[in-house]
Amino acid sequence: MRNTREIQIGNIKIGAGNRIAIQSMTTTKPSDLEQTISQIKVLESAGCDIVRVTVPTVDDAKFIDKIKEKISIPLVADIHFDYKIALECIERGIDKIRINPGNIGDRNRVKVLAQKASACNIPIRIGVNSGSVDKEILEKYGAPNEDAMVESVLKEIKILEDCDFTDIVLSLKASNVMTTVKAYRKISQIVNYPLHIGITEAGSEYSGLVKSSVGLGSLILDDIGDTMRVSLTAEPEKEIYAAKEILKACGKLDKGVNIVSCPTCGRCNYNLIELVKKVELLTKNIDKNLTVAVMGCIVNGPGEAKEADLGVAGGLNECILFKKGQIVRKIPFKNLLDELMKEIIGA
Ligand code: SF4
Repeated sequence: MRNTREIQIGNIKIGAGNRIAIQSMTTTKPSDLEQTISQIKVLESAGCDIVRVTVPTVDDAKFIDKIKEKISIPLVADIHFDYKIALECIERGIDKIRINPGNIGDRNRVKVLAQKASACNIPIRIGVNSGSVDKEILEKYGAPNEDAMVESVLKEIKILEDCDFTDIVLSLKASNVMTTVKAYRKISQIVNYPLHIGITEAGSEYSGLVKSSVGLGSLILDDIGDTMRVSLTAEPEKEIYAAKEILKACGKLDKGVNIVSCPTCGRCNYNLIELVKKVELLTKNIDKNLTVAVMGCIVNGPGEAKEADLGVAGGLNECILFKKGQIVRKIPFKNLLDELMKEIIGA
């Protein structure tokens, strides 16, 4: 396990061996109060640990306390350039700020922000993206590669450390998976600040999930990453479900239903694809640590899925229900979804 500092974000701790916290971001502005709260509520029920909201103006910052009153997960403000917005957010009870100190300009302003954040125990995430690498550094390297990103983030860190501020989280996201992975691997060898990992502009639900699985999965398997966001061009809660699947695949999430299913073949006599889609949808918000198998046929199903806590495998007109590889009873195809869901809920 990478030995990082522990950072407190509201009631969630990241780094120092704490579990990887899942994040997402609303697609609303704080001034769209109702919409913002309603999106956060959906994210909370999906299993989101930390939520971020963009705060483009000081007027938007004035809604932070109103949002905080209605939600129960930590709230992060995403701010560009204007330190006054950050100060207002801290006044209104924000739990973390994402701002790049290099973009604030005047070092006295950075100092004021660092002092205020420090006094209120509010961490700051420095987020260097491949598109926002420091100009001089970009000229030096000629492209926003991993070395340019690492140098850029180190420059940002120094600005805060010069103000005696070390309550820092880092991110170095590129839309290129390989660049992202290399940048995180490199920075993890240099500093021990917790890392927020993600692939930026990853794309649609499908391609974004693949890119994030490859990139974030590689990092997580190397024990790099303390909090994660899967960026998808999709509804924010889908980012949470995607993050959970990546964590499950990496063996880092011990809650939630893990579905194993076969690809089906000519031996399958029922609509397994439809059943798996429905079971996946209905179990999304179930927190139990349970592996459920949905297999096409009795010939190979129970044997291949004997590690599953429970599962079904298709026969001619019915499925068998098995638990830990042992056949328990038969279920007619027409009752399959209901009976399987009852077993999952009762397990
Ligand atoms: S479990 Fe049966 S139906 Fe599914 S792929 Fe294997 S042989 Fe085919």
